[in-house]
This record gives sequence, C-alpha cells and structure tokens, in this order.
Amino acid sequence: MKLLVVEDEAKLADYLRKGLAEEGYAVDVAANGIDGLHLASLGNYDLIILDAMLPGIDGFGLLAALRQSKQTPVIMLTARQRIEDRVRGLKTGADDYLVKPFAFSELVARIEVLLRRAAGTSPAPDALVLVLADLQVDLARRRATRAGQRIDLSAKEFQLLTLLLRRKGQVLSRTEIAEQVWDVNFDLGTNVIDVAIRRLRNKLDLPFERPLLHTVRGMGYVLEERQS
Ligand code: CA
Repeated sequence: MKLLVVEDEAKLADYLRKGLAEEGYAVDVAANGIDGLHLASLGNYDLIILDAMLPGIDGFGLLAALRQSKQTPVIMLTARQRIEDRVRGLKTGADDYLVKPFAFSELVARIEVLLRRAAGTSPAPDALVLVLADLQVDLARRRATRAGQRIDLSAKEFQLLTLLLRRKGQVLSRTEIAEQVWDVNFDLGTNVIDVAIRRLRNKLDLPFERPLLHTVRGMGYVLEERQS
C-alpha cells in the first residue's frame, strides 16, 4: 500500500513517514502543495494525507484540482482553531479529517478504515481473512497462521505475504514487489527482496511439509499450492 503525505512542517512529515513505514506502508512525502499535486496526480497512491495549510497551493486547492481526475481517498489535517476548515475540506472532497495535534494510532486507524472502504464497500469481517491451503491471514488483526500455528512476521514480511496472497497463483516480479511493498523512491539494493523472501519463506514454509512460496526462475515469485 502506497501513501502520499503532503505536509510542510518538516518534523511532522518526517515523523509520519517513519511511523507509517513501520506500519508497513510505502510513503512518499511532499513539502508543498505544488509538489504534492504533481505527485498525487501522477503517482498511484492508495491514500493521501493532506495538510490544509501549505505553501504553494493549499490543501483545499490541491484537493479540488485532484478531484477533477482522481478519487484517491484523502485524510485532511486541519488546525484545531479552524472548524470551518473541516467543513470546507469535506465539501471539497476529503474522505476524513484529523485535527492537529492527533495521536498517531488514530491516524493509522482512520487510514485502515478508508483503505478497507476503498477495497470494497464495507466488506464482511471474513472478507478480511485471506486463505490458501492451511494458510490464513487475518488483515484486520494482522495475524498469519498455518495449520493453526501463529507465524510471527515483521510489518514488511506481513505486507509481502499479503501482496502474494491477494495475487495467489500469479507470478510477481521483483520490480512489482518493490513497488508495492517498498517505496519506489527508496534505492533498493538488488537483493533486498530476495532476502525478505528468504526470511518469509523460513517462517512460512520451513516448519511445514508443503511449501507455498515458490521461485519462478528469471521471473519472480508466486504463492500457490502445488500438488506433488
Ligand atoms: Ca502546514
């Protein structure tokens, strides 16, 4: 999942970038409205966190321009004193807003709600559980099990597994995995993905009889059940 943060306060922007990366999101940051609009229009973001008060174009102007072509979910950040900003933000097409200062956990909760809503309107709780053979991944609880045994995964490993599982049976290239799981602007060492795959495989497949994660030579990786 890729997020764009448009925020001119460098400290807050940095805090959000780091925190959201730890939650397993790929994050781009723009420090003013013009860069923000440029990235938001061109990039393929799953959600945008948009400060209302920005140099260049402010958040409302950016949102109004963006809504002409894109319906990317937007959470607006507004200042406490400016109640009219929230109304204006929602009218312009923001999906949600948070008043500064806000708790990081609240931002994460709002992001999850909007991403879930975007994935399909109010899915049933069990739609948030992905299944392949004896593997189950509970997206809401961020929990993976195989044959009923809990698999402990880092945020990135969880995201990698979720990506492969959502696209089970399809071969994913390293480039595609890098784009979806890591920030594309992050200069990836060539073996970062291979290392992550190996770690995931050690936890996911090694303790069990039948492997699910397969390497397709020269192409990438696929998660599927193979009859042997
Ligand atoms: Ca600001």
